[in-house]
Amino acid sequence: MIAPGGTIGIVGGGQLGRMLAIAAAQLGYKCHIFDPHERPCAADVAADFTRAAYDDVQALRRFAAAADVVTYEFENLPVEPLRAVNDKLHPGAKSLAVAQDRAEEKSFIESTGARVAAWRAVANLADVERAVAELGVPIVLKTRRYGYDGKGQAWIRDPAEAAAAWSSIGEEPAVAEAGVKFEAEFSVILARWSDGRLTFWDSANNEHRDGILRRSTVPAGNLIAGQVEEARQAAAGIAEALGHVGVLTVEFFASGDGPVVNEIAPRVHNSGHWTIEGAETSQFEQHIRAICDLPPGSIALAGTGATMDNLIGEEVHEWESLLREPGTHVHIYGKGESRPGRKMGHVTRVSLKD
Ligand code: AMP
Repeated sequence: MIAPGGTIGIVGGGQLGRMLAIAAAQLGYKCHIFDPHERPCAADVAADFTRAAYDDVQALRRFAAAADVVTYEFENLPVEPLRAVNDKLHPGAKSLAVAQDRAEEKSFIESTGARVAAWRAVANLADVERAVAELGVPIVLKTRRYGYDGKGQAWIRDPAEAAAAWSSIGEEPAVAEAGVKFEAEFSVILARWSDGRLTFWDSANNEHRDGILRRSTVPAGNLIAGQVEEARQAAAGIAEALGHVGVLTVEFFASGDGPVVNEIAPRVHNSGHWTIEGAETSQFEQHIRAICDLPPGSIALAGTGATMDNLIGEEVHEWESLLREPGTHVHIYGKGESRPGRKMGHVTRVSLKD
């Protein structure tokens, strides 16, 4: 166990690292952020900051030596250099390696018995055309690596669009995935301890626009509620097979045939931000508890439900009217520039018990 007073290294200095550092500070830990940018928003709330490239093994070694445990808030990290962190890394390198390559991820998920959309790995236009012939349309092409928030994706709704889609994702190695007819999207967010204990928050209904999460709502409604048990079993199987320690997110489509895994994130997740005020223990605190091997916190709802809305791009400028609204929890990430599509903050409204 790593007791309060210890140092937690966090690789990645975005808003997830920032909210992890805030939760860790509440429990008396010091956080040390590792990030290549000049002034990442997590560094503003942490005790220490190392600015270095993610593949700088010397810097990683020094960073790890000064920490009791090291975690990450971002999955597009080169795995090999992180071996310098050794057994202090939670979750481990396997969770990272599986989650950062969509083809590895899908094969791995299938190997645990969970369901994914029909898919093919593609490396050239002929592969794409074969996938279209075999799977039919619609199909979505997703680059194997470095995609997020709908980036690196292109839809093929007619076989004649195959070449344009392949070119629009930059002719990068990709997966071709059958479009899933879904009624709704939801996520299972769990925390796993090294001895296998698991806690699950209520699943939120996630609404996306342009590939970006806009809103998460709990309770998620009957349709999703009817699929959560099966989805939890699938997520638990994935966490177990990864030997995952910490928070793991599995995103699902609620389809007519039951839950279909879209993707996994080996970390706290945007669709769990509502837990900060909406649950008795937030995803950020629970992650710290799990990686430090502290007792699990209760993940019961604090009220009767919650809604989390992202503040994307210019929306962050609405902060003043949001602050005037009673009971609204406003989170602003302290990122300088509000570029279109950039997650700048979020706001949570909790519905209270009568
Ligand atoms: P992703 O980056 O994989 O999470 O995809 C972003 C969003 O695109 C998802 O949340 C869905 O709304 C949509 N999407 C991705 N893959 C599929 C699919 N196979 N079928 C239908 N919609 C999809």
